[in-house]
Amino acid sequence: MKIVVTVKLVPDTNAVKRIDPATKRLVRTGVETVINPFDEYAIEAALALKEKLGGDTTVTIFTMAAESGKEVVRKALAMGADDAVMLSDAGLEGSDVWASAYAMAQALKKIGFDLIICGALAEDGNTGGLPNALSEYLGVPALTNARHIEISDAKVKAQRETDSGYQVVTGALPMLMTVTMAVGEPRYASLKGIMGAKRKTTAVMALSELGLEKAVGTGGAKTEVVEIAARPARGKARVEEAADGPAGAKIIFDFLKERKLL
Ligand SMILES: Cc1cc2nc3c(=O)[nH]c(=O)nc-3n(C[C@H](O)[C@H](O)[C@H](O)COP(=O)(O)OP(=O)(O)OC[C@H]3O[C@@H](n4cnc5c(N)ncnc54)[C@H](O)[C@@H]3O)c2cc1C
Repeated sequence: MKIVVTVKLVPDTNAVKRIDPATKRLVRTGVETVINPFDEYAIEAALALKEKLGGDTTVTIFTMAAESGKEVVRKALAMGADDAVMLSDAGLEGSDVWASAYAMAQALKKIGFDLIICGALAEDGNTGGLPNALSEYLGVPALTNARHIEISDAKVKAQRETDSGYQVVTGALPMLMTVTMAVGEPRYASLKGIMGAKRKTTAVMALSELGLEKAVGTGGAKTEVVEIAARPARGKARVEEAADGPAGAKIIFDFLKERKLL
C-alpha cells in the first residue's frame, strides 16, 4: 500500500511574520522554515499504519514548496518516511488554494497513491481548505478529522472527531484523509533515522512534467487578497451593574438584541 503524506513547509511558529505590502503575501525568505506542526501528526499516522500493516506499505512525503526547503523535508524522512517528492516551480507563485490544489493533484496522480494523509490545517495559511479541494481534483473521497484509523482489505475504518465526540466512518481506498492531533503524538527522529535520511531520495518535480490543463500561479488563482489589516485593538469593556439576576439577564438580553444577535 502506498501512503502519501502532504507536508507544508511553514515559517517557524515563533518567528515574527511579515506580510509584503506589495504582493500581500507572507514573506517566507529570511524566516526559519519548519514542517507544519499539524503535518507531523499526519506523518505519525502514516508511520503507525506502515508499522501495523507491514508488507510492502510505503510512506512518501509530498510537499509543494521551494527547493530550498529540501533540508526541512529531510526531517520528515528522518522520522521514518521512505522517500519524498517536492513540487517546486517558480510558475506556482501566486497560487491560491484552488490553483495549489490543482497543481498538487496532478503531481499526486503522477506519484500514485492508495491513501493520502493531510494535516487538518496549515499554521500559516490557515484555511483548512486545501485537502478538500485536493480530493475534489483527485476524484477520491475525503475522510476528514480522523483520529483512530484501521485499514484492512483496502477498507478504512476511522473515528472522525466532532465537537461532541466522534463518529465511526468507513470507506474504501483510494481516499484522502485529514487527521487531528488525537491521532497520536509525533515521534522524534532517532539518530539512526537522521543518518538514514541522508540516503533517502527527495525527487524534485517541475510543472512541465505535469501536463497541466488549467492555469496555476497568479493566472490560475480564483481569489485575490484585496486588503490586509491588523486586528483593531480591543476597546474598553462596558461595565454594567445590576440589582439582581433577572435585572442582569435583562441587560444582557437588551445588549444582544441591540446588536441584532437575538
Ligand atoms: C491570491 C493568493 C495568492 C497566494 N500566493 C501564494 C504564494 O505565492 N506563495 C505561497 O506560498 N502561498 C501563496 N498563497 C497561499 C496558498 O494558496 C495557501 O497557503 C495554500 O493554498 C494552502 O492553503 P492553507 O495554507 O490554508 O492550507 P490548509 O488548507 O490550512 O492546509 C491543510 C493541509 O493541507 C496540506 N498542505 C497545504 N499546503 C500544502 C503544500 N504547499 N504542500 C503540501 N501540503 C500542503 C497540509 O497537509 C496541511 O496541513 C496565496 C493565497 C492566495 C489567496
